Amino acid sequence: MSAKGSYKPQDSIAAHYPDAVEWRRTLHKFPQPSWLEFFATAFAAEKLTEWGYDVKQGRDVVAEDKLLLLPDAEKLQEEYDRALKAGANEKFLAPAKGGFTGVMATLKGDQPGPVIGYRFDLDSNEVTETQDGTHMPARQGFVSQNPGYAHMCGHDIHTATGLLLAKYFADNRAALKGTVKMIFQPNEENLSGASPMIEKGILDDLDYILGGHIGLSVKETGHICFNVHSFLALSRFEVTFTGRPTHAAASPEQGKNAMLGACSAVSNLYAIARHSQGATRINVGTLQAGTTWNVIPDRAYFRMETRGVTNELNEYMVEKARDVIEGAARMYDLTVEMKPAAMAVVAESSPELIAMAERVAATLPSVKKVVPSAPFNASEDITLMMERVQQKGGQALITLFGTPTHGGHHSSSFDADEAVIRNAAEFYAALQKEITG
Ligand SMILES: [Zn+2]
Ligand SMILES: [Zn+2]
Repeated sequence: MSAKGSYKPQDSIAAHYPDAVEWRRTLHKFPQPSWLEFFATAFAAEKLTEWGYDVKQGRDVVAEDKLLLLPDAEKLQEEYDRALKAGANEKFLAPAKGGFTGVMATLKGDQPGPVIGYRFDLDSNEVTETQDGTHMPARQGFVSQNPGYAHMCGHDIHTATGLLLAKYFADNRAALKGTVKMIFQPNEENLSGASPMIEKGILDDLDYILGGHIGLSVKETGHICFNVHSFLALSRFEVTFTGRPTHAAASPEQGKNAMLGACSAVSNLYAIARHSQGATRINVGTLQAGTTWNVIPDRAYFRMETRGVTNELNEYMVEKARDVIEGAARMYDLTVEMKPAAMAVVAESSPELIAMAERVAATLPSVKKVVPSAPFNASEDITLMMERVQQKGGQALITLFGTPTHGGHHSSSFDADEAVIRNAAEFYAALQKEITG
């Protein structure tokens, strides 16, 4: 309880909600995609530091050897400079230099209690936002200033929600039981930001991990869902075949044709038998090989992914894909490397926490309906964090926060009802009170 007996979390959150809308709009104006979230990183780190959090950034929160598909040095510098130009504070920008984006901020309450982690994602999409006057950000003057990039999945709203919640905890530190860890994760869109944070051990003391997404299959403001199903486990690989180049007319028999290996692998990947136990997916999204007319191609590269409705089904696809790829390499006497590029698992929220969340949500004025269950229908790397915390005996919850999404996620005209920022922060605050008693 706070000093004021009648104190309610929603009062504090409502007071700062207009600020959170401003934060969201600022973040929306300066979007940056996976590993390049310099502006959002500095923006969050500066505020959290100002509010008294113990803020960790850069190499302290992301493991260097897990920064998969990191953009090249030139791109990293260009986006770093862009964040600086947009007004990011260099003190909080510098630790992220080189792609080490992401923030973890810890606040220890004055009262004893559990450690609760909240995860929010920072990255934008690689989409050009519509300038159409019917699109609210265009009409209100906060449309993306970074061509080719835009927040079309709502991660600007997630970050603003995390900050609003963080402000509430900071304002109520004297009454706060236990510790809160606010985790601002880079690179959700390419599903590679959770594992470098996990690798750093930042989740290892958590009793709870809580996260969520706005919209998706819950499309009305005030609706909320905790029984979220239909995640897809996913594995992505970069595959490189290497052979030997020779003159295609003078000495073809001395060449080792990497392109043939890759083509054989690609067609046979699609021939992997479907599994009787549930749905699986496979896709090869790019293929590059060879150099010119008269040289036997010595290098071929493709990007592939597998998915499954369970971790086991996805594993089945990965194993079969490995057999096909290695078999194709043997057939043409090539070497091959399958380099992991991203991963997500299927994780389930902890049943006790779902029950508690439903009880709490029913008491909140902003909640119009607790939706009994809803599909996620995609992959999300928060599942790796959930799995990690649950394996160590903790509990995990993923929540869908209702909002209309206009053009739909990842479209050029995606937008959401900003009231979802307040609704989500209120729910997280109320659940924290319930957990800590
Ligand atoms: Zn997305
Ligand atoms: Zn998203």
